[in-house]
Amino acid sequence: MTADGSLERYSRQMRFPGVGETGQRRLLNSHVTLCGCGALGTVLANALVRAGVGHLRLVDRDFIETNNLQRQVLFDEHDVAENLPKAEAAARKLNAINSSVHVEPVVTDIDRTNILQLVEDADLILDGTDNFEIRYLINDVAVKLGKPWVYGGCIGSHGQTMTILPGQTPCLRCVFEAAPAPGEAGTCETAGVLSPIVNIVASYQAAEAFKILTGQRAQINRELIYIDVWENIQRRIKIAPLLGKVDCPCCRRRRFEWLDGEQGSHTTSLCGRNAVQVAHRSATRLKFEELAGHLEALGEVNYNRFMLRFDAVPRRPSHHQGNKRCR
Ligand SMILES: [Zn+2]
Repeated sequence: MTADGSLERYSRQMRFPGVGETGQRRLLNSHVTLCGCGALGTVLANALVRAGVGHLRLVDRDFIETNNLQRQVLFDEHDVAENLPKAEAAARKLNAINSSVHVEPVVTDIDRTNILQLVEDADLILDGTDNFEIRYLINDVAVKLGKPWVYGGCIGSHGQTMTILPGQTPCLRCVFEAAPAPGEAGTCETAGVLSPIVNIVASYQAAEAFKILTGQRAQINRELIYIDVWENIQRRIKIAPLLGKVDCPCCRRRRFEWLDGEQGSHTTSLCGRNAVQVAHRSATRLKFEELAGHLEALGEVNYNRFMLRFDAVPRRPSHHQGNKRCR
């Protein structure tokens, strides 16, 4: 074991033969794009930053709410009070956990116009979203660029994960050709979600990330793993035979329908909240102070440098919030 002081914090991980010093150095030189910084995303980011993944780009447009705290492990009540975007609050927490890695928060929606730029320099893409449209977009861009990615999804007490190595494993569309119809798949708002399944699925994803980033591809999971912590179900579904056997529009025909805009609703998916998010792509600079001045006559206005929240009068139990990005 090297006596290199900078590696001391990783000594227990390096002692594990699958990682070792070589693997640790590879982790330190790795670049990961994590799509989504909610339930799965915060568990993933926590694991990756503690493990010393050198550069972690966190992409999420959402803001923290009190009902996130039950499962989104990097956030606390202060973050809710400050109305912080999840990516910014997570980056702040992660910098305190491990200041030697570079955490790059990006407060934006992921869509077909920006995904290439968000992932092109990454060694690995991780799915921390709650949204099938973005997963198909990730799948398209990952297959197109030949980058590995790890899918994960949770709802209620169950979740699933699979690892995609383009050309070596089936892709997401080989296994799930089409996204569930709107309303067919539950959301965490309608079906709820338990934190244990989030931690389990994200932990599988993190382990896959370690294997890929340390160069241990022979070790990766090549099955679809399904777990239900309430019904006591653990299934491993063999998907490897699908590779090259199904007429996959993405990895076989190389038609990137989501990336090219032939599929997808182009809407932003909110996790079922009674709120309206207004995103204005051409507004690169918006003076919240000025806007607040106009809105004050109509209701209650609060803002910080990331968001402006406006409650119209007459007051209702729910609020409408308009988020304008300044970046
Ligand atoms: Zn495919």
